[in-house]
Amino acid sequence: MSTLAAPSGVAPAAALAAPIVNALTIDVEDYFQVSAFAPHIRRSEWDSMECRVERNIERILALLADVNATATFFTLGWIAERYPQMVRRLADAGHELASHGFGHQRASAQARNEFLADIRLAKAILEDITGRDVRGYRAPSFSVGAANPWAFDAIAEAGYRYSSSIYPIRHDHYGMPGAPRFAHEVRPGLLEIPVATVRLLRCNWPAGGGGYFRLLPYALSRWSIRRINAHEQQPAMFYFHPWELDADQPRVPGAGAKTRFRHYVNLRRMAPRVTRLLHDFRWSRVDRVFLNGRP
Ligand SMILES: [Zn+2]
Repeated sequence: MSTLAAPSGVAPAAALAAPIVNALTIDVEDYFQVSAFAPHIRRSEWDSMECRVERNIERILALLADVNATATFFTLGWIAERYPQMVRRLADAGHELASHGFGHQRASAQARNEFLADIRLAKAILEDITGRDVRGYRAPSFSVGAANPWAFDAIAEAGYRYSSSIYPIRHDHYGMPGAPRFAHEVRPGLLEIPVATVRLLRCNWPAGGGGYFRLLPYALSRWSIRRINAHEQQPAMFYFHPWELDADQPRVPGAGAKTRFRHYVNLRRMAPRVTRLLHDFRWSRVDRVFLNGRP
């Protein structure tokens, strides 16, 4: 624990002098792999869908290059197998490759041995392509929680050093509002680094991305991250998806009104918002922000 960011209440001179560097993460999946669309698109149909992830990753790489920032890309094994050159390009540009599992099945919908096989396979695919260790894992739809604590044992057993699989908020599809809000050792040698929240009125509010970032005014996100950095002296963990920058993506037929709203709201505003976010804060890869040179 001592190697994590400065605990609240203790602000070393260096922390006051230099702005805190936050962790920027991208969950690399295509629009048809989103969990909320799973009832409408069979897995066997994935191969026949129009893939748009490569062009969206190119846009993200350009945005990051503009501000000279690096990020962590939690990539599906399914995507990495089909786009190994894209994965190599991310690594060559100085970004961290981490795992989002192979097939985007929620941890909570899998048996322990299925889950372990899925996260081992994704790690092996990414390591084969990049020739580098993959240390991070994020569960699809933040699907690790009180009901499946064995998932952390499996993540440690698969050889990961950190996980970012908990969003400590209340949400109908995910969330674990009682979980710790900041990085903590969840198993020996395994850090859990939750997505950023602000604590207000005795509740945790989302501050680390998702539909909220597109739906709510940008100023609220900026205020939240500033508060986490300045008041709590902690780095924020932020995430978004390549498809969120793609306003022209094909519409998925059959999805209900709530799912459609959450997925498509303000897609056209996303690129300018990400650009502002990149300029308003300092960003880097998860391993550089949270592992502090640990092997
Ligand atoms: Zn995902």
